[in-house]
Amino acid sequence: MENRSIAIDGPSGAGKSTLARLTAKKFGLIYVDTGALYRTVGLYAIRNKVTSKYEEGVKRLLPDIKIEMMYDNDGLQRMILNGTDVSEEIRTPQASIYASDVSAMVSVRSYLLNMQKEMAEKYDVIMDGRDIGTVVLPNAGLKIFLTAQLEERARRRHKELTDKKVAVTYDEVLRDIEYRDKNDSERSAAPLRAAPDAILVDTTGKSLDECFHIICALAKEKLDL
Ligand code: C5P
Repeated sequence: MENRSIAIDGPSGAGKSTLARLTAKKFGLIYVDTGALYRTVGLYAIRNKVTSKYEEGVKRLLPDIKIEMMYDNDGLQRMILNGTDVSEEIRTPQASIYASDVSAMVSVRSYLLNMQKEMAEKYDVIMDGRDIGTVVLPNAGLKIFLTAQLEERARRRHKELTDKKVAVTYDEVLRDIEYRDKNDSERSAAPLRAAPDAILVDTTGKSLDECFHIICALAKEKLDL
C-alpha cells in the first residue's frame, strides 16, 4: 500500500526524524527510520574491526548480521543487533561516519532494501532516509525532500546529541555533516537526490511547529488519511 505511505528524504539534520515521528503519531502511520539500519551495519563493522571503506570485508560480515526493528510503547523504533538493543550505541559520531561509508556499498544497500520494502508492504509507513522516494518507495503517495542550510542543521544535530548526553562539540558535528553530505550525494549507489515528484520543504528559519503544519497539510491533500 505504498500510495498511503510517505517518503521523506534529505540531508542529515534537516529535521526528518522529528517530523516523521510527529506525523506518524498524528496519522497512525508506522515510522521507519532507515538511517538506523545503515548505522547498525556500521556498528557491526566497528565491533569487528573492519574499516568502513573496505567493501569486501563489510560484505563478508553481512551473513552474520541479524537486524530486527522493534517498537516500544511510545512508538519509538528500537534497533536489535543479533539479539541486543543497540539503539543508543548507533548514535555516536563514529557510527555516523561508518553508516555513511557502508551505505555507499551496493552489497549493503541491497541487503537492507528488502527489509525496508517488507515494512512498507505490511504497514502504512512514513519512512525517512536518502533514497526512499527514488528507490525504496517509488510509488509513495507523498514524497517530501526536506532540507535546511548547513549551519542550522549542525546546530540542531548538536543540540539533539547534547540533550541525549552524547559528548560532541559543534565543530565535530559540523564536520560530520559536511562529510556525510558529500559522501551521500556523490556516491554512485542510490545517491541523495530529490525524486522528480518530491515536494521540496526548506526548514531553514522555520520552527518545528511551522514545519509540522506544512507536512500535515501536504499529507491531508495528497493522501487518503
Ligand atoms: O539518517 P541518518 O543520519 O541516521 O543516516 C545515517 C547514514 O545512513 C546517512 O549518512 C546515509 O549515508 C545513510 N543512509 C542512506 N540511505 C538511507 C538512510 C540513511 O544511505 N535511506
